[in-house]
Amino acid sequence: MSEARTLVGLGVSPGIAIGRPLVVENRPLPVTKVPLAPGQLDAEVARLRQAASAAARHVAGLANEARKKVGSDYAAILEAHSFMLEDPALLDGVERVIREQGVNAEWALEHVTQRLLAQFEQLADIYLRERKTDVLDVAGELQRFLQGHAKPTFDHGDEQSILVADDITPSQAIQLGSGRMVSGFASETGGLTSHTTIIAKSLGIPAVVGVADLVRVAEQARLIIVDGFEGHVLVDPDPALIHVYSIRAEEHRRRQQELLGLAHLPAETVDGHRVHLQANIDLPRELEGAKAAGAEGVGLFRSEFLFLQASPDLPDEAEQANAYAEILAAFPAGTVTVRTFDLGGKKLAREVLGNPEANPVLGLRGVRLCLQKPEFFRTQLRALLRAAGKVRLPLRVMVPMIGHIEEIKTVRVLLARYTEELRKEGVKVSERPKVGAMIEVPSAAMIAEHLAAEVDFFAIGTNDLTQYTLAVDRGNEHVANLFRPFHPAVLQLVERVISVGQRYEIPVSLCGEMAADPLAVPVLVGLGLREFSMHAAALPVVRGLVRAISYRDARRIAQKALSFATAKEVEEYLLEQLSALLAHLKLRIRP
Ligand code: PEP
Ligand code: MG
Repeated sequence: MSEARTLVGLGVSPGIAIGRPLVVENRPLPVTKVPLAPGQLDAEVARLRQAASAAARHVAGLANEARKKVGSDYAAILEAHSFMLEDPALLDGVERVIREQGVNAEWALEHVTQRLLAQFEQLADIYLRERKTDVLDVAGELQRFLQGHAKPTFDHGDEQSILVADDITPSQAIQLGSGRMVSGFASETGGLTSHTTIIAKSLGIPAVVGVADLVRVAEQARLIIVDGFEGHVLVDPDPALIHVYSIRAEEHRRRQQELLGLAHLPAETVDGHRVHLQANIDLPRELEGAKAAGAEGVGLFRSEFLFLQASPDLPDEAEQANAYAEILAAFPAGTVTVRTFDLGGKKLAREVLGNPEANPVLGLRGVRLCLQKPEFFRTQLRALLRAAGKVRLPLRVMVPMIGHIEEIKTVRVLLARYTEELRKEGVKVSERPKVGAMIEVPSAAMIAEHLAAEVDFFAIGTNDLTQYTLAVDRGNEHVANLFRPFHPAVLQLVERVISVGQRYEIPVSLCGEMAADPLAVPVLVGLGLREFSMHAAALPVVRGLVRAISYRDARRIAQKALSFATAKEVEEYLLEQLSALLAHLKLRIRP
């Protein structure tokens, strides 16, 4: 058996996928200025026109496909793009720069694009101003055709293909699960808790991120293997290696099935301490899988994914209310928690805000953005109240990125206002929904006692809490080794919030990826956490672990874990404890 070329990254979603690479490049292509002689200019203009026609045909084809598969709204956007690609206002402008400055088409296009963007910026009409994104998309498409990098779409993929990308946006990632699904995913960027990673996990797709040089290598490859356990991408493996990995993939599938058999058993420790396991849901279509995995409710519905799906339009009040009602109705006996839009940061910031921010993750994100866009937020809050009224089930509304008490107070005032408004319109609304704060900014954890007076529950978001406590971008592969949820500073904040919740008698849940980490389960149980929310695929393993430990041991493990000075010490200690448990359980998590 010969060695295949192995690229190393970070395994973020377990499992093995074997297939053809489907390469998608999203990063803007670098553009170089090439001076041309007068005799070359006609040919350059002809090259521009040819690339524009080819790009327009390509996008028109996508529009047709989209009309059949996704619906007319999205198709209409693509159609408009295909017309823009042949619009004289764009092409004549680029031609003029080619001729006047004697430069290559790529450079001229970049020049004209920047000028157009600046003109859009001056427009008074917000709607028109936000159409800047169309200009960027169209120019990007033309740039790709000029440079010979036509962007494949996921529609070319099937269950035999593995999506390989330099960078992938959350809105592209949600298409992974629609229609013909790809079987694996690998990217150059990303980290353990970047949103794309989370989506891959929710869909149960093996994924490896942070793989340097991936696109260049994969472009030449016929077949690749994504090993989400080890964080490896194997390029052009020989038949013997393919055979070995096929056996591993099969073993993993079988073990998952076995664990699913535990789904009906309560998540209770051997000494009778009961916790509740809930699902994180990105889209309503994940509900069935969550129920099959034994979720007792939804601890986090990332409502912004409704927006990502409908982008650039906002789903209207009725559409949103239907989606929320569907989720509520799926768990009539359990709790359902909908998080208000957590847009901004890296999620559709450009589309929602129009303008890019210099430092978006510390910018207008989550509740901050919603409070600055009152009409936008009103639609969502009214839809939530309407949905709970319609299905007559209790609703928990959770607010992301809370850093200041005033933010949660304002959300409460708005909910009261829209309740009144809807009642006056004769609409049946929810009786006072429970309102909770996500604790994902260190300041919120530090003022938890004060927040407790204002909210009905806390939900700890360890993905962002780790990011903001350690000042480590959760999606940046260059600092992925510093993204450590078991850093003592993060653990102490988690402990703090759980104990404040106990003291003030308000429920505390944890819905970051930490809830799904086998290493974290004993610590969190031992700290007294009662509600764990995670991507559905992780529920069976966590249930198995909870059922294998005693609350007494978990408390001991938690106390000891809090005593260390470094993340490494905590991780080593927890691994040792977990290994003892697994040996006892005979439950192996790796092949
Ligand atoms: C978190 O930050 O831990 C969280 C659950 O929210 P998200 O991952 O969607 O930011
Ligand atoms: Mg978060």
